[in-house]
Amino acid sequence: MTRINNKRTRILNVPVDMVDEQEAMGIFRELLKTEDCSLIVTPNSEIIVNASRDPELKRIIEQADLIIPDGIGLVYASRIMGVPLSHRVTGIDFLEAIIGYLEETGQSIFFLGSKPGEGNNPGIAEMAVEKMQAKYKKLIVAGTHHGYFKEADEENIVKAINDSRADFLCVALGSPKQEKFIACNRDKLKVKAAIGVGGSLDVWAGTLKRAPEFYRNHGLEWLYRLIQQPSRYKRMAALPLFMMKVIVNRFKGGK
Ligand code: UDP
Repeated sequence: MTRINNKRTRILNVPVDMVDEQEAMGIFRELLKTEDCSLIVTPNSEIIVNASRDPELKRIIEQADLIIPDGIGLVYASRIMGVPLSHRVTGIDFLEAIIGYLEETGQSIFFLGSKPGEGNNPGIAEMAVEKMQAKYKKLIVAGTHHGYFKEADEENIVKAINDSRADFLCVALGSPKQEKFIACNRDKLKVKAAIGVGGSLDVWAGTLKRAPEFYRNHGLEWLYRLIQQPSRYKRMAALPLFMMKVIVNRFKGGK
């Protein structure tokens, strides 16, 4: 593990780096210079609550090199904790900044995750890549693989990633699957760094709409997502639960 930043704090006793996008990109650039596979995670309130209950996920986050605070819940929590974040860094914006940097420096990316195509139709990852390459014309995509595989296939997938000689790996399997995949295979992966990005490829592909600016500016992305995917209401209950836990913890003098 490479610790290049000193802005680490704890929310519900789970570590989070209090960085804005510029600082996060500075750390990212340093991580690409190191030999081993660095781990970047982008926890939102739901992931923090899950990690406070799942020791394996918490241990993985503890071992990450960059822990980006994703989502408005973490900004509110940081205020309650007395270490306010000036801006939140959303996972999807950070991924775009990474893509821009990889294009600029001629480094390649491999995408693992999201739904495969049916019949002759392209999968979500291929659709996302097409959109990315329309915007970032020189982006080198070393390969893609869908995210619906069995544990027994993992070894072959790691081999495909390594054979592609990708510099960077983007994993979109949802949390905690994506974090666990990277952590379990970290020693075998030859990429310089890997990130878990949740549903970002669906957004790039255009199958999941990103919240319009109004919702984003008012910290209401969760509301927009609830309108788009009402079946997620149970998962969304994590946000008020998270805030309550942060307040209670702070009241008790803990983290
Ligand atoms: N996904 C996957 N394999 C799985 C489960 C999910 O590739 O076994 C993909 C899913 O298709 C979606 C992404 O993981 O593209 C994120 O899923 P979800 O919305 O659950 O994650 P979140 O954005 O909430 O982290």
